Amino acid sequence: MLDLQTNTSNNDNTLQKVRALYGYSQSEISENLKDYDIPLKQNSMRTKQLWNWIFLKGIKEFSDIRNMPKDLLNELSNDYTLKRNSVSTEQRSADGTIKWLLGLSNNGLSTPNEIETVFIPEEKRGTLCVSSQIGCTLNCSFCHTGTQKLIRNLTTEEIVSQLLIAKDRLNDWHGSEPDKLRKITNIVMMGMGEPLYNFEAVKKALLIMTDCDGLALSKRRVTLSTSGIVPFMERVGTEIGVSLAVSLHSAKDDVRDILVPINKKYPLKELIKACENYPKLKNSSKITFEYVMLKDINDSIEDAKDLAKLLRNIPSKINLIPFNPWPGNNYQCSDMEQIKKFSELLNNDGFSCPIRKPRGQDIMAACGQLKSETVRLRKRN
Ligand code: SF4
Repeated sequence: MLDLQTNTSNNDNTLQKVRALYGYSQSEISENLKDYDIPLKQNSMRTKQLWNWIFLKGIKEFSDIRNMPKDLLNELSNDYTLKRNSVSTEQRSADGTIKWLLGLSNNGLSTPNEIETVFIPEEKRGTLCVSSQIGCTLNCSFCHTGTQKLIRNLTTEEIVSQLLIAKDRLNDWHGSEPDKLRKITNIVMMGMGEPLYNFEAVKKALLIMTDCDGLALSKRRVTLSTSGIVPFMERVGTEIGVSLAVSLHSAKDDVRDILVPINKKYPLKELIKACENYPKLKNSSKITFEYVMLKDINDSIEDAKDLAKLLRNIPSKINLIPFNPWPGNNYQCSDMEQIKKFSELLNNDGFSCPIRKPRGQDIMAACGQLKSETVRLRKRN
């Protein structure tokens, strides 16, 4: 770990008492503006101006807007805010990964709820791993977050705020470094929580992030990862249109029942059918299957063959994830030799099957390791 900073933001730790305007779509902002004394013919221009300042320039105060009437900006600042959630902690890994612990409102209680957001820089892209819930209900047995009980779903503004905070801290706003490419190019909804158990808020947040007049992330570069909540999977394709990843981890129901217990409700047969019918597959995209490599649990050559058979009708990419141990878990990571053999078999069978390089291990930011710092500290005391 390179450094650890605490209380690095001046923002109100208990979040905003008024609503954050960045949690609204363009059409909702246009509707909201009808509450103010603005000629109807100016509504669309004012909406665009606000959208521009919020999502291209990243302003945090209405008073920073220079091309709108002062009276209107004063009124807006009474009703809405542009402030972000607070950053309680920032940790930087030796490999460049950054993890932020964010404080969220806790219905007026003094201790804020907290979530984690992780930035993973790579040579040709920068990926932000975003959370959708505080805690999780699904108890996947290899996942550290799964040991933290669900506190609540995040709101749209809290999901969007994670991207805005990351852009603030990376100085990644339009015009800030005109010669450089954007630092955040990809979003993965793979942080804390099951995004499809918070479908409406996640959908709205992703549509705001991909709106081409503002943050403009390409839908191909935004991935929603689910543990397999079958009834919502088609809606991800038709209503959001982003890429889909499935936390698979085994091609056998009896093993998956233990690793991903939601499998008992939506077993592999239903999950695979939902994947085969995923609407975006018609546009030559692939579904990514996440497969954590656990020694003697799911890593045999037989397991690899079963996996190839299971996915034979789905355009797939299979990400092999070497298991990241965390305190108190019962699993071991498969040997690298075995992971390579597993990958080779699937590659030879025509699948794209990369082995994911572990990132941010020294700050517990790697896949499956996210868990609120405060919970850990509370347990230690
Ligand atoms: S893997 Fe995802 S769905 Fe499963 S417990 Fe962890 S956060 Fe929840």
